[in-house]
Amino acid sequence: SPLLHARGVAKTFGRTRALRDASLSIDAGEVVAISGPSGSGKSTLLHCLAEIVVPDEGEIHYGGTRVDELDEDARTRLRREAFGIVFQFGGLVPELTAEENVAVSLMFRGTDRAEASAAAREWLERVGVGDCAALRPGELSGGQAQRVAVARALATEPAVIFADEPTGALDSVTGEEVLGLLLGAARERGATVVLVTHDNRIAAYADREVVVRDGVVSDVPAVAR
Ligand code: ADP
Ligand code: ADP
Repeated sequence: SPLLHARGVAKTFGRTRALRDASLSIDAGEVVAISGPSGSGKSTLLHCLAEIVVPDEGEIHYGGTRVDELDEDARTRLRREAFGIVFQFGGLVPELTAEENVAVSLMFRGTDRAEASAAAREWLERVGVGDCAALRPGELSGGQAQRVAVARALATEPAVIFADEPTGALDSVTGEEVLGLLLGAARERGATVVLVTHDNRIAAYADREVVVRDGVVSDVPAVAR
């Protein structure tokens, strides 16, 4: 059975039907790109899969468990334990240093402060921004900030990494470097990656591409193809 599965998911914001009917199955270890035009519902689908947004209709299953009906605390726990998330503009906490931004995600999972700081420094080194450990997000370039965001998403060794236009704010060379780091580390560990992008060149790095149009996605489960 798939690791992550959405069935008939719909979500409306005010009068906007962001998602109308989204069904999608993702196997463990797959790298899946969600593509489609701007405003088609890609981010909303990602947010539903990542338990950030609760759908109005339909079901989300993770590891065989229905997760969209869990309460807020249980969904937060699932996100912290199993998911890593990279946003377009990093989503780093501006008041914290690069090292603290990474360490906090480990501390949420129970790692003590000293161990979390040491691991954070190692991850920053691995993604090429070891010398930025003491800087705050406002002092970093876009590419550096996105590397810190990648380190933060990888540090907890999540089962699933969600990335929403992770390279959208970067020039193409920097973007491909950052994506290479993210996918390289994910594939090394057999992690599952769900990547939202409107860029065909980025989608080409995925094992599979799923297209969202006007809030509709229908996808044949990988096992049936
Ligand atoms: P995409 O990621 O494909 O650009 P989104 O999922 O971000 O699409 O948005 C789909 C539609 O839903 C757009 O019209 C967007 O403006 C709207 N939308 C998304 N999130 C919200 C929100 N929190 N409040 C109101 N409208 C939203
Ligand atoms: P993306 O570039 O990934 O499509 P956006 O920049 O459209 O994302 O949206 C960023 C955030 O703002 C998301 O959390 C989304 O749900 C929210 N959002 C998007 N469109 C609207 C809107 N029309 N009104 C309110 N919030 C929105």
